[in-house]
Amino acid sequence: MDYDLLLKGGHVIDPKNDIDGLCDVAVKDGKIAAVGQNISGSAKKTVDLQGLYVTPGLIDIHLHAYGRFAAWLHPDDHNLPYGVTTCVDTGSSGWQHFPDFVETIIEKSQMRVLAFINIVGAGMAGACEQDTSEMIPEPCADMIKQYPQHVVGSKSAHYGGPGWEAAQGGIDAARMADTITMVDFAPQPTRSYEELLIEHMAPGDIHTHLYASHIPLLDENKKINDYVWKARERGIIFDTGHGGGSFWFRIAVPAMQQGFQPDTISTDLHRSSRLRPNATMNATMSKFLAMGMSLQEVIYRSTQRPAEVIRRTELGHLSVGAEADVAVLELLDGQFGFVDSGRARIDGAQKLECRMTLKAGDVVWDEYGKSCPLWEDAGEYKRAD
Ligand SMILES: [Zn+2]
Repeated sequence: MDYDLLLKGGHVIDPKNDIDGLCDVAVKDGKIAAVGQNISGSAKKTVDLQGLYVTPGLIDIHLHAYGRFAAWLHPDDHNLPYGVTTCVDTGSSGWQHFPDFVETIIEKSQMRVLAFINIVGAGMAGACEQDTSEMIPEPCADMIKQYPQHVVGSKSAHYGGPGWEAAQGGIDAARMADTITMVDFAPQPTRSYEELLIEHMAPGDIHTHLYASHIPLLDENKKINDYVWKARERGIIFDTGHGGGSFWFRIAVPAMQQGFQPDTISTDLHRSSRLRPNATMNATMSKFLAMGMSLQEVIYRSTQRPAEVIRRTELGHLSVGAEADVAVLELLDGQFGFVDSGRARIDGAQKLECRMTLKAGDVVWDEYGKSCPLWEDAGEYKRAD
């Protein structure tokens, strides 16, 4: 057999390789073996994907998959059914518990789980997040360097004090480890968003929750603040981080109308964002469609762009030789409504849903059994993994 799996007749969108059209995708030994029109050759299994979109496996750079707080969700269960094959846990763990995170979740998950390590040594565990004595860059940087295969940088979040200990601590740890930091920021009279973006963060660092109600992205006339444009020009990355409280259409829509899109679409998925605001990756992507972002841009900001941002450019595309992480998406037309973190709605005419997910060439999600034989044709079939 030439191939293990041949995905036939789907519409491939692979921004990095500039592919946007009907194409077959062939997989062998867990890798992309060929992409092109009417691929010939034999395959152990051929799947008809007419009418569906085929994209690189989605990359969600902000969610919570571990913790000593109750809100985390197991990564496989809440990502693979949405086409997400790589996720980045953002600071659920600090350096004190990171080896346990590796052992209990990262190494046991089917999907690729990467991480930002919290500047707070004890991680996201309540009161300790306000304790500046927990915010020591050196041990955070040491742990980042100890696990380069799993860690993409540092994280700071949830700090309500007057000083810069959290944000600057995360930035310092990232610099010591030659990585990036992701900042979840709550401005205070003593430390402004402008100072963060212009004076503290470096190009490549990420501000997450750009459309949160507590972030002064817009001025009093609902115009994007000049310093926000300046920050983008100097290379600061802006991430969605939908979450339970950080995605508001009343900020996102005027920002999008002025051309201020997020670099990356991400969910901040955890228990309080999973239900009412429905912050899954597919729903979050659909919200951007409803706000006027093109499908191609939505895919770009959920695949190639996040891979670049976390400096894992081997991911997020369907190049021959790349690991065969693939999402198969259906774009439904109809009348849909989507809810934000403030429980307000936007209406939309399109909705993305995931029908199949491949991780390293294995079918790990197959909602309509497209890779399965009809039971009448399957003989004396037994359970197979
Ligand atoms: Zn978060």
